Amino acid sequence: MSISPVQSRCMDCGHTFDFHPLTTRCPKCGSEWLEAQYDYDLVRDRWLRQLADRPFNLWRYHELLPVQHTPPPIDLGAGGTPLLRGVHLTQMLKLPHLFIKDERQSPTSSFKDRQAAVTIAALQESGLTELVVASTGNVAIAYSAFAARAGIKLWAFLTSLVPQEKMREVAIYGTQVVKVTASYDEAKQIAVEFARQRGLYIDRGARSIPTVESMKTLAFEISEQLTRQHPEARYGGLPWRAPDWYLQAVSGGLGPIGVAKGFRELYRMGFIDRMPKLGIVQAEGCSPMVRAWEQGKAQADPIPRPRTHITTLATGNPGRSYTLLYDYVREHGGTFVAVSDAEAFRAMHMLAKMEGLSMEPAAAVAFAGLIKLVRQGVIQPHETVVVNCSGHTMPIESHILGERWARHVVVARRQEQDEAQETAPLGAPQEGLLAALSSIATERYPRILIVDDHEPARILLRRILQSLGDYTILEASDGYQALEIAQQDPPDLIILDLMMPGLDGFSVLDSLKSHPATAHIPVIVVTAKTLTQEEQRRLRRMARLMYKGEFLSDEFFEEIRRLLDQAR
Ligand SMILES: *Cc1c(COP(=O)(O)O)cnc(C)c1O
Ligand SMILES: [Zn+2]
Repeated sequence: MSISPVQSRCMDCGHTFDFHPLTTRCPKCGSEWLEAQYDYDLVRDRWLRQLADRPFNLWRYHELLPVQHTPPPIDLGAGGTPLLRGVHLTQMLKLPHLFIKDERQSPTSSFKDRQAAVTIAALQESGLTELVVASTGNVAIAYSAFAARAGIKLWAFLTSLVPQEKMREVAIYGTQVVKVTASYDEAKQIAVEFARQRGLYIDRGARSIPTVESMKTLAFEISEQLTRQHPEARYGGLPWRAPDWYLQAVSGGLGPIGVAKGFRELYRMGFIDRMPKLGIVQAEGCSPMVRAWEQGKAQADPIPRPRTHITTLATGNPGRSYTLLYDYVREHGGTFVAVSDAEAFRAMHMLAKMEGLSMEPAAAVAFAGLIKLVRQGVIQPHETVVVNCSGHTMPIESHILGERWARHVVVARRQEQDEAQETAPLGAPQEGLLAALSSIATERYPRILIVDDHEPARILLRRILQSLGDYTILEASDGYQALEIAQQDPPDLIILDLMMPGLDGFSVLDSLKSHPATAHIPVIVVTAKTLTQEEQRRLRRMARLMYKGEFLSDEFFEEIRRLLDQAR
C-alpha cells in the first residue's frame, strides 16, 4: 500500500492529479505523457528503517509503485533476480567490476515480467477484464502469464517475424494471438485501431505509468545488490551504491527510461552518490536511436524497414522515448551504439561457452555492445558496469495447441504505398491496415452467462472460457440477476451454480424453463455438492450436470462447444 496517494504529473503542462490506472491522458492538455510522483521524504525514512526486513522481490519497493495491494495475489515472483559477477568475461575484457543482472531467472525469462507484474496488478485493481498489446515477443509472453492469473483476456498483436516458438508460448497461456504480416510499427498501429474499434484498453508502453514504474525496480535492486556484493565500490558514504554504467539492448527504450527514473529517485532521496551512464545498444539493421545520436539530433527518424534477424529489437519508430533517453545521456553521460547481427550471435555463443549464460539474441546484443565499448575505451577498466541479461526462451510443446492458435492479418503491399509510407508520419494508420483488420473484427461471438455467487469461481470460469475461444461473457452474482439478464437478452448458454443464497440454482432453472423466451437456452449446472438420486434425475431433465472438480477437464470444454453448436 502506498503511504500517500500516487500523483500523476503531466510532462507537457505540469498539471498534477491523483493517479488512476485507466486515466491515460492529462485532463488539462490531453497529453499522454504522464509521470508518477510520490512523497519521497516519507519513503526515504521508511526504507531506511524497514527495507532490511522485507523479502527480496520487487514488492519490497511498494511505496514507489502504483499498486494499492501488495504483493498482489496474481504475482508469480517477479523481480529479485540475482546480480552475477562476470567470470571469464571479466578477465577477457580486463573489467574487474562487471556484473550481470540475470533477468532470465524470472517467471517467463525476461525483464518484461516486471512490467507485467506491476501493470497487470494495477489494471486488475481497476476492474479491467480485457487488454490489447502489441509486442515483439517478450512482452506478450510475460503479459499472457500474468493476465491468465488475473482473469484478463489478452489480445496479442505480433509481427509474423516473431519466431514460431515464441508465438506458441504466447498462445499456450490462452492469449488470442493475432499474427500481423507487416513491420512491428505497423502491427502496433493495427493493434491501436483494433482497441479503438472495440473500446478496449491498450498497453501504451513508455506512456503508461505502471509500465515505466515497474522498470525502476531494476535500478533499486541493482543498487542494493551492489551495496552488499561490491564493497570496494566508491559511494561517498551514502546508504546504497550505484554502478557507473547500466547497459541494455534497446527496442522501444522503455527499460532504460524506467531504470533512469529509478536512479533519479534514489539520487533525490540521498541513497546514491551518482547517476549511472546509460549504454544503449541497438541492432545495426534497426538503430534509429544510434543514428540520431551520431547526428547530434534530439529526435529520431523512423526506420520503416528494419533489417535485423533479432525481432525483439525491431522498433523502427521510437518516438519520444528516444528524446527522453537523449536528454538523460546528455545530462548524465553514456552513449548509443549499434552492433551487427553477426556480432550479436558471436557474443551469444561466447557468453554461453565462457560464462555459462545461454541467452536469446536480443540480450546478446547488449553484450556485443559491452565488448565494443570496452574495446573503444568508452567504458574504463575501473568502472562498475551492470549488463541486463534477459530473455532465455525454451522451445515449447507445439502439438498441444492444435490448429487455430493465431489469426492472420495481411497488409496489402503496393509499390506506391511503400513509397508513401517512407515519407508519411507513422502516426495515423494506413488504409490498407484498416482493411486487413476488418477480417477479424466483425464476428458475433456466442454469449455465455456465468451465474455464481462466489467471485473467484466466476473468475475461474471466465478465464476458462476466455482461453477456450471467443465468447462474450456475462456474469451474474445471484439468481435474480441471472433471470433478469436471461429475459432481457437471452444468452446462448448458461453456466449455473446450484448453491446460492436467495434464489438457488433449482429455482433459477425452473423459472428459465417455464418462460418461453428462455426455455430453449441450454444450461450447464455446476455444483460442488453431492446430489441425491432424486435431485440428479430432476436436474438431468433440464440441464447438463457437472461437478466442480471437472472444470479443467476436456469434457467440460467439449460440453460447452457441443451445447453451443446445438443451439445454433
Ligand atoms: C524488450 C527487450 C529488449 C528491449 O527493451 P526496451 O527497453 O523495450 O527497448 C531487449 N532485450 C530483451 C531480452 C527484451 O525482452
Ligand atoms: Zn498536461
